[in-house]
Amino acid sequence: MDSTPSTERSTTNTKAAGGTAHHRRVQTHCPYCALQCAITLKNAVDGVELTPRDFPTNRGGLCRKGWTAAELLDSGDRLTHPLRRVGTDEHGEARFERISWPEALDLIVAQFRGVQERHGRDAVGIFGGASLTTERAYQLGKLY
Ligand code: SF4
Repeated sequence: MDSTPSTERSTTNTKAAGGTAHHRRVQTHCPYCALQCAITLKNAVDGVELTPRDFPTNRGGLCRKGWTAAELLDSGDRLTHPLRRVGTDEHGEARFERISWPEALDLIVAQFRGVQERHGRDAVGIFGGASLTTERAYQLGKLY
């Protein structure tokens, strides 16, 4: 991990703030890799401010990638609620409708069970990424 330059103690994503007056503060972790370095996100007047926290894996520092973590917050490609595919449009592009989390989870369970009934338990698999902590990877393995 890169050491944190002493002059770079926080960074602000000005696009994600949206001019809100909230001063919400969230203690969370960098989403990019399994080290899960600790960060604090705070709404500031000019954007979302990211500050590293003292934590066993990062001891108050972040690598270069971690400093960009707040940039995800306003990505136009980011999914913020469940979607269900409802067909295609006249150009063959998939169409989706918004559904609730309980509906989404029920649908996923029903689809997984249906595939497993037709093709066996090993017909369903999950790809895990490097951002999974050891504990999350363990829980994921317990699903099957
Ligand atoms: S990507 Fe994030 S979690 Fe991984 S080392 Fe960098 S700051 Fe830490």
